[in-house]
Amino acid sequence: MSTKKVEIVVQPKPAHYVGDGFRVHNFIPSAYRLDMERMDPFIMLDYNSKFHFNASETPKGVGVHPHRGFETVTIAYQGKVEHHDSAGGGGIIGEGDVQWMTAAGGVLHKEYHESEWSKKGGIFQMVQLWVNLPAKVKMSAPKYQAIANADMTQHHLGANGFIEIIAGDYKGDKGPAFTFSPINMMNAKLKKGGKADFQFPAHYNTAALVIEGSIIVNGEETAPTDHFVLFENEGENFIIEAPEDAVVLIISGEPINEPIYSHGPFVMNSREEIMQAFTDFNTGKFGYLED
Ligand code: MN
Repeated sequence: MSTKKVEIVVQPKPAHYVGDGFRVHNFIPSAYRLDMERMDPFIMLDYNSKFHFNASETPKGVGVHPHRGFETVTIAYQGKVEHHDSAGGGGIIGEGDVQWMTAAGGVLHKEYHESEWSKKGGIFQMVQLWVNLPAKVKMSAPKYQAIANADMTQHHLGANGFIEIIAGDYKGDKGPAFTFSPINMMNAKLKKGGKADFQFPAHYNTAALVIEGSIIVNGEETAPTDHFVLFENEGENFIIEAPEDAVVLIISGEPINEPIYSHGPFVMNSREEIMQAFTDFNTGKFGYLED
């Protein structure tokens, strides 16, 4: 076993709005070296860093839109998100919760600030990841996993803090999310002066996003708040230390290594499949959802 070194610490790009409710820094696929293939199966990461939204009677967000061929994973750190979909599903993602939506063959959905939260406004902070699906399940039935914070597995590290496991494994403790390919996803919640070590296979695409505080990786690389740490695909082990209280999202997944052909909200394996997605969308095969 050898050290998994930091390839680059990426600073957040200028924020842009998704709809009027999500003010995000895109890291995947637009930041330096972080295209879809580089972080496969994590093909998109939008990060709404802490931002104060004023009170609004009409909840801000994104109107009805389709997805096909992948999963959307929404992690709420502050604020609340409400969603509805064309399969009749819906729910609220509260602080600390995760919604893992498998769009697969296709859904229409809309995502907004939760209505009561919106009336008060406040600090909003969340991550949305798109997780690619293997070709053989891209057209399977949609599926939802509402993962409340209390459902997540906590691996305690004494005075160092704890690891909150969403998916995959940390030292034998497993997270609750079902995944279609091997994925590890967890929040390291470290106390000032705390540290944690991680071990993932060398070829897994691995990264860390600093949500709170700052971190020192492998005793040498400093990553401030809102920065993204990309690891090399060599070595297995790394250590994160927290000079102040810190929250770090860690993602590590086995690359699916299939062709990626994406256009807007569709991520398939070929141009023909993307054309089919547009045809299906335009002929109502994604169902119906009122705006
Ligand atoms: Mn969406």
